[in-house]
Amino acid sequence: MSERSKDSATESLQFLAGGGEMGALMRSLDWSTSSLGPPHLWPQALRTVVRLMLNTGHPTYIFWGPQGACLYNDAYRQSIGPERHPGSLGKPAFEVWEEIWDLIGPQIEQVRSGRGATWNVDHLVPITRHGKREEVYWTYSYSPIDDETAPGGIGGVLVQCTETTQQVLAARQLAAERDRLAQLFEQSPTFMVLLRGPEHRVEIANPSFMALIGRREILGKTIAQALPEAVAQGYVALLDTVFATGEAFTANGARFELRLEPDGAVVDRYVDFVYQPVKGLDGKVSGIFVQGVDVTARAQADATLRESEARFRTALKAGRMGSWITDHASGKRHWSREGMDLFGIDLVDGIGQVGGDNDEYVGALHPDDRHLAQRYKELAARQDTFDAEYRIVRPDGTTLWLTGRGLVVERGPQGQALRLVSIMADSTDRKLVEERFRLERERLDLALDAAQMGAYDLNFREGTLWWSPETYRLFGVSAEQFVPTPESVLALIHPDDRDTFVRLRRKAIDEHRPFVHELRIQRPNGSQIWVAHRGRAEYDERGAASRNFGVIMDISERKQVETMLRDADRNKDNFIAMLAHELRNPLAPIRNAVTILRKSGPADPTTTWCHEVIDRQVNQMARLLEDLLDVSRLSRGQLQLRLEPTSLAQVVDQAIEIAQPSIQAGEHAFIVTLHPRPLYVRGDVARLAQVLSNVLINAAKYTAPRGRIALSVEDAGEQVLVRVSDNGIGIAAHHLSTIFEMFAQVQTAGRHAQGGQGIGLSLARSLLELHGGTITAFSDGLGKGTEFQIRLPRLRPSPVGEPARTAEPAPPDDTQSYRILVADDLRDSADSLASLLETFGHTVAVAYDGEQALELAESFRPDIAVLDLGMPKVDGYEACRRIRASAWGGSVILVAQTGWGQTHDLGRSRQAGFDHHAVKPIELDTLLAMFPAVQAG
Ligand code: ADP
Repeated sequence: MSERSKDSATESLQFLAGGGEMGALMRSLDWSTSSLGPPHLWPQALRTVVRLMLNTGHPTYIFWGPQGACLYNDAYRQSIGPERHPGSLGKPAFEVWEEIWDLIGPQIEQVRSGRGATWNVDHLVPITRHGKREEVYWTYSYSPIDDETAPGGIGGVLVQCTETTQQVLAARQLAAERDRLAQLFEQSPTFMVLLRGPEHRVEIANPSFMALIGRREILGKTIAQALPEAVAQGYVALLDTVFATGEAFTANGARFELRLEPDGAVVDRYVDFVYQPVKGLDGKVSGIFVQGVDVTARAQADATLRESEARFRTALKAGRMGSWITDHASGKRHWSREGMDLFGIDLVDGIGQVGGDNDEYVGALHPDDRHLAQRYKELAARQDTFDAEYRIVRPDGTTLWLTGRGLVVERGPQGQALRLVSIMADSTDRKLVEERFRLERERLDLALDAAQMGAYDLNFREGTLWWSPETYRLFGVSAEQFVPTPESVLALIHPDDRDTFVRLRRKAIDEHRPFVHELRIQRPNGSQIWVAHRGRAEYDERGAASRNFGVIMDISERKQVETMLRDADRNKDNFIAMLAHELRNPLAPIRNAVTILRKSGPADPTTTWCHEVIDRQVNQMARLLEDLLDVSRLSRGQLQLRLEPTSLAQVVDQAIEIAQPSIQAGEHAFIVTLHPRPLYVRGDVARLAQVLSNVLINAAKYTAPRGRIALSVEDAGEQVLVRVSDNGIGIAAHHLSTIFEMFAQVQTAGRHAQGGQGIGLSLARSLLELHGGTITAFSDGLGKGTEFQIRLPRLRPSPVGEPARTAEPAPPDDTQSYRILVADDLRDSADSLASLLETFGHTVAVAYDGEQALELAESFRPDIAVLDLGMPKVDGYEACRRIRASAWGGSVILVAQTGWGQTHDLGRSRQAGFDHHAVKPIELDTLLAMFPAVQAG
């Protein structure tokens, strides 16, 4: 290169002067390898824009020539990293901006092809710089650079750009911020409203506010239009004040009444809120920001809490309860109103003393319970809660029982109770009841103990059996060693009584009635006692026995006395029976003797009278003895009846026959009225005749001579009625029933001394009862006569006709003569009977004991043998057996003779082989009636 050209070249490179770092770089670069060629050859148009570029502070870029060689200035250089600077200078555009060629390629092409410039604002052109691809925003333009020398007249593209990445990101952040705020506003649990202008027009309101006031259109409306209820409640006036003064207003728990639905019910809302004035740039209030919280739920909870506290206090009062807090740290006791009421104290501020002489609590404690204060202190040291019960004496002198609990609510470092809450209730009433209950129990125990009664309680449902201490004693076991169970108890009951015990108890429980019975307890030590057991069961809703309780009582002594009494009674019966027997024996010989005397020929009137007296009195005595025997038989249950269809007429006949002598003796008028048709009963004719004769004899006895006695037999439907009336001494009303008691006799001044033991009517009643009949006495009073009514169940005749009449015994045949053996150890009896029989033409042999009787029988060979049963040596039974066993004895008529006349004797005598059984004193007629059987046989 020539000097000149060099100079001109230097001169021509003036356009690269300045330009800071890029200027220097452009000047120093060896452009020969670039598509632009050396700068001094660059066309003027390029030179001009390069000079402009290097001298402007605005970021500028140039794409020149067909390859778009890249040029840029210092300002632009800030926006690229070492990846492109300085290496990209002068390099083809495509090579440098390959990564964004899609974006800028078309723009360069557009400008170069003359289709106009481009303009982009905040356009994202992501480029790699400083090793990382960055989101870079640009506001830029692509404009053509005219060059006449270039084909198409456009030499390159001028890029003027400003990187706006910072602004774009800041704006975006701002938007996000605003978004967050809006969201906060939207979702805030606090309500927010922005009111504009003096009329408080709603500009914005968040959903919380809408929730508070209910769905309605409020945006753009004044608050008075949007929330008319706020006007009346003074809220709008408040807003006016805030707007006027510019001072914020705060409220807590303010009540706001509103309707959530246009015609719904008015509801209460409680709100905490702030009216915050919003001021413009001019400092004037332009609106009010309202922000607040709906605290309705809390307010309601508070109200509920207050209510429940009030209720708690009422409950304390109602339950006569009181509470106080004992604070050992401060030495003070905080009393509730109720606590003070309970103690009857009144402290101005409810604060009392703990410890010392002025301790109101300790001072109130009952002297006997004062020691408990220390106890509770010890308890509080160990446990957080404990039960307490004690008495206090109130200032008015009344004593109260208090029952409740202590609760430790705070402890000191060593665990000592610092604060203690006491809740106590007045339990005086309950305690009094308990005390009464205890006393009653004690009394019951004492009573059970005194009565030596044992109690028990068997719970079927729980399977438990409780015994009182006395029960253990009665069973002879100790509470320590013996566990009462149904099985173990049963084992202690006498084996003979066990089944009965179980059965009777079961039966009574099933039938829902109490049970009473007596049983023996076999104690483990071998001794035995009698106990009376009374029990009762309790039943559940379904009627099943759930419990069985009762008492047992030692009755061993009573049992012993009973046994003794029974023995004594039996001895008495035996004695009476024996006495009657012994007394009867002499009667037979007397009677026989009289009969013989009579038979021995006509006597003088005095002798005849004597005979009659003896005869009557013997009969009377025999009857009395008979009654006596019957009484003892009855009491021993040994009286047996021969029940058969019996005609009343027959009974009446026999009774009259017996009573006739008495009636005649009194010279009474005697009227008998029988029923026209025969009436029957089922009965023992002899017994019924005995009853009726007794009544007739009484009538004769208790009626003054020449009185009137009437007997009638009537048909009384199901019964036969026999009346015996007299016009005698009568019976006082209060004696009408007692005369039927054993040995009852009415003591009356005018009583006829007719003798008697007060047995007759009692026997009559018993005999009638055995027949299913009754006897009743009627009298209008003393001197008014008496009527006895006997009623017997009537026997209806069978369809066939009247009951078969018992065959009339054939009349005794007194023409026949028999060989008769009479054996009796009572000589008079034997001899008199023998004499009597001989009078009637019989041949009689007499023996005075059994042995003799057997010997005699052997030689005498009697047709009939009358044997006394109770003979010495060989008794009547044995004698009979031997006679029967002998070769000749089969056909002998054997008659047993006894004073006992009892059925078991009768059975025995039949067994021994007797044909007949006669009771002493044997009636001759009775004996003779047995004889025709011999003829027949
Ligand atoms: P007693 O052997 O004393 O007659 P009863 O048992 O036969 O015994 O009679 C009891 C009592 O009843 C008699 O003592 C008598 O007082 C009274 N009594 C019985 N029958 C009559 C009667 N028909 N009139 C008055 N009193 C009678």
